[in-house]
Amino acid sequence: MTSPDARRAEIAANLARLRQRIDAACQAASRDPAEVTLIGVTKFFPAQDAALLAEAGVPDLGESRDQEAAAKVEEVARLTDAAVTWHFIGRLQTNKARSVARYAGLVHSVDRPQLASALDAGADRAARVLPVLIQVSLDEPGAADDRGGVRAEQLPELAGHIAAAGSLRLAGLMAVAPLGADPEPAFERLAGLAAQLRVDHPGATILSAGMSGDLEAAIRHGATHVRVGTALLGRRTANFG
Ligand SMILES: *Cc1c(COP(=O)(O)O)cnc(C)c1O
Repeated sequence: MTSPDARRAEIAANLARLRQRIDAACQAASRDPAEVTLIGVTKFFPAQDAALLAEAGVPDLGESRDQEAAAKVEEVARLTDAAVTWHFIGRLQTNKARSVARYAGLVHSVDRPQLASALDAGADRAARVLPVLIQVSLDEPGAADDRGGVRAEQLPELAGHIAAAGSLRLAGLMAVAPLGADPEPAFERLAGLAAQLRVDHPGATILSAGMSGDLEAAIRHGATHVRVGTALLGRRTANFG
């Protein structure tokens, strides 16, 4: 077990390297690094690591399972005074929507009308307006390893459904690049879908794309939020997020 100080130093070093990657990617794309929000993905890592990230200057943290997230949100609040915005980035069952609507600052993974309605009801019950992203699939139809998300053809209908929900705010799109393929054409396509969406929904300005392995390509294609776990915290021992 690593000592807290050693872990703090390790995270600081990882973060410095990651910021350099983001800065270089922004420079190559003639973009301002201030346009790109880093979300530290803390799934499968302890609350202590999440608190260390927040204290190191990463106030945006991402989780992909409600049970783990709900517990971590409370524990991190006990561990640090640093402010945290929690991003829900995983597949979400409708019966977990009410819980997520309580603590999430942004839900990235809305992929069907029933889930949008459940989040809307949860946000209403929590007396808040919940910003959400639509997760769009960049996989070929019938791909063996589907990364989730609505098909592009269904995007306008789901966007309209969310826009009509009283306690949701449609804030943009999220996607995961297809597994084992060049992320470049996928993110290019995503940028086109995002531009199309903004014709009818000008407030949908967030583009959540890019992870440890492909954040450069995502930034080249307009990502405003990158979701990075491994490059910050190390390898996860399991991954079903
Ligand atoms: C786990 C996860 C990430 C982080 O992936 P890394 O490769 O560890 O950076 C990003 N986005 C989603 C949706 C995830 O589930």
